Amino acid sequence: MFFIDRLDLDRHLQKLRDDLESRGGISDDLRGWSWNKDSRVKPLSELKLPVSEVTHRYCPTYRDIYLKRILHIKAPPTLKTIRGIAYHEVFHEANLKVKQFIYASKIISGGELLNEYMPKLDDYVSEIINRSEKRTVKLKDEERGILKRECYVLYRYLLIQAAARIDSTLSKFKYANQESIASEVVPALSERKVDGSLVGFSKELSVDLYTPFNAIADLKTGETRDFHRHILAAYALAIEASERIAVDFGMIIYVKVDLDRYVPYFDLDCFIIGDELRIEAIEFRNKSFEILTLGKDPGKPAVCPDYCPYYTHCNPSIVAQKILEHG
Ligand code: SF4
Repeated sequence: MFFIDRLDLDRHLQKLRDDLESRGGISDDLRGWSWNKDSRVKPLSELKLPVSEVTHRYCPTYRDIYLKRILHIKAPPTLKTIRGIAYHEVFHEANLKVKQFIYASKIISGGELLNEYMPKLDDYVSEIINRSEKRTVKLKDEERGILKRECYVLYRYLLIQAAARIDSTLSKFKYANQESIASEVVPALSERKVDGSLVGFSKELSVDLYTPFNAIADLKTGETRDFHRHILAAYALAIEASERIAVDFGMIIYVKVDLDRYVPYFDLDCFIIGDELRIEAIEFRNKSFEILTLGKDPGKPAVCPDYCPYYTHCNPSIVAQKILEHG
């Protein structure tokens, strides 16, 4: 992970390991591999849902699930949605380009990586925005301009960090080969596909980062939400069920780009994917299945959070009133 300080990460994980030990570990019947036993993990239905639909709990009554799956109404994409897609593409592509450079070039300074890719960065970013728009909606010119600058800053930062990491590896290890340089510079495993069907999730889940330290990570571009940790709890259950590998720790990496200073900021939320979080994620899943099995509108909560993707759909009169008030 060339965008996260390794020492910082080690420090966080060591602390979590100690905490987990003092808590006495994680209950076996809340591990994904207990899916076929009489356990709390075992799905009570044959239904399968994407982790995002189950865990993005904007709506306390689960009306979002009813609207999407029973009435087939999609939430309108927002700039935040497109930003999320575009940032993920930047991470994915920068990672790929760094690997391509390491394996295709002679063992050479990261400065050459910058010489090769920086002149084409503007084109790479335009293609990423085009692809993100194709998956969602066309942005207004001003929004497009801002997002393009953000993606440019993020992409450039990632390449510069990777170039510096290549140089420090070459300088430290005189006989490093391509394989060892790659393992120093890019994540050991990144963007992993996981089969979540054994625990009631979709067959092809994408985990943003999968590390060799029993930890998984998710990149987030928006505000901090309580349910972000549950997303990783659901992924942990899926990985444990399909691969029988223990996933004990989660990291949410919040990314923000500062367009005044031309740098991104990374905030790390590191936590144990412990019993409580697992139980809550399983409750989200079970309740979602219940909504689909009943097929009835669960109604609205007393107050809808205005950041819910269905806010405009469920609250047309409030939205119309706000438009009137603000001209
Ligand atoms: S707008 Fe309200 S009722 Fe509709 S899905 Fe969101 S939280 Fe639920």
